[in-house]
Amino acid sequence: MKFSEEEVQNWKCEACGEDLVMREVVFSYMRGTFHVDLPACPKCDQVLITEELAMGKMAEVEKILEDK
Ligand SMILES: [Zn+2]
Repeated sequence: MKFSEEEVQNWKCEACGEDLVMREVVFSYMRGTFHVDLPACPKCDQVLITEELAMGKMAEVEKILEDK
């Protein structure tokens, strides 16, 4: 799952007002480790993950695990 560069350019860190950059984030869920490109602040390392995105990703991950 990736965001388009255009999409990310419109986003800024709420805390610092810095433009977000794409960053690979690794997280563990259930039995797996997943690499996801997410927009993050270059200044405070805050990763922008909306609840909607997190839920969608979790559903995606569960589907991958179920297929195994
Ligand atoms: Zn920031």
